[in-house]
Amino acid sequence: MVAALNGKVAFVTGAASGIGRACARVLAAEGATVAIADIRTDRLHALHDELAETGAKVQIVTLDVTDEQADKAAIQSTVEQFGRLDVLVNCAGYMLLAPVIEADTADWTKMINTNVLGMMYLTHAALPHLIESKGSIVQMSSIAARTVVKTASAYHASKFAVNGFSEGLRQEVTELGVRVIVIEPGTTQTELRDHITHAASKAAIEARVAQYRQLQAEDVAEAVRYAVTAPEHVAVNEILIRPTDQI
Ligand code: NDP
Repeated sequence: MVAALNGKVAFVTGAASGIGRACARVLAAEGATVAIADIRTDRLHALHDELAETGAKVQIVTLDVTDEQADKAAIQSTVEQFGRLDVLVNCAGYMLLAPVIEADTADWTKMINTNVLGMMYLTHAALPHLIESKGSIVQMSSIAARTVVKTASAYHASKFAVNGFSEGLRQEVTELGVRVIVIEPGTTQTELRDHITHAASKAAIEARVAQYRQLQAEDVAEAVRYAVTAPEHVAVNEILIRPTDQI
């Protein structure tokens, strides 16, 4: 069977870890050439070698998505190297939990800059190329854009922003053939929670998730595979995917 993304080029942020890395693997397995972007270069090399061994074409991009000029340059470099861009997957992100009153507001800045502005800058930089290719944008949102719990206010703010931006964008570009795909995972076993700086919030979420089976990054990547390989006339706009045990 012909791989669905043969001849297509994908750009994935947050590709050094967790869901982004799993998405890069799935896209490469579907035949796409993949630019793997992350702030951490060491593990990008390991992923590059792993994918290249399967015959995939891979480009390493060391990128801080919060740097708009770097985002523009990175997209440009991918298009220059491979001639096109078909899929952008915005996965880089943080979930820094804390009650508002006790929050380190540097965490808010980091989350809004990365989860929201980084995603917006990259979308802006990639859009002309995606219009040309009638491509897809995958936004790694969260169940946190659909339901709200305490200690996650700032994270909710960032993920509600992802969904709002994406729906407005969808209405602007759908008639141009560009598909905007919002993925909303529940708890997924990755390094996301390692970054939480508020000790009590970190302990609380770790205790909560220890009670149920989490999603694996590969489970989320399968949703991405389904959406980006759907026939061109099918726009999978939103997928909410929870662990079966998560209420
Ligand atoms: P991980 O921490 O495993 O992966 C995120 C990756 O993004 C890391 O490699 C991280 O690098 C990188 N990154 C962070 N900031 C930047 C930046 N400014 N520029 C480039 N890369 C950056 O987390 P997940 O895979 O779980 O998270 C991916 C996305 O999925 C996030 O947007 C998250 O909100 C979302 N999500 C995750 C869920 C979960 O339960 N895991 C559930 C719902 C949504 P480093 O670690 O070095 O900072």
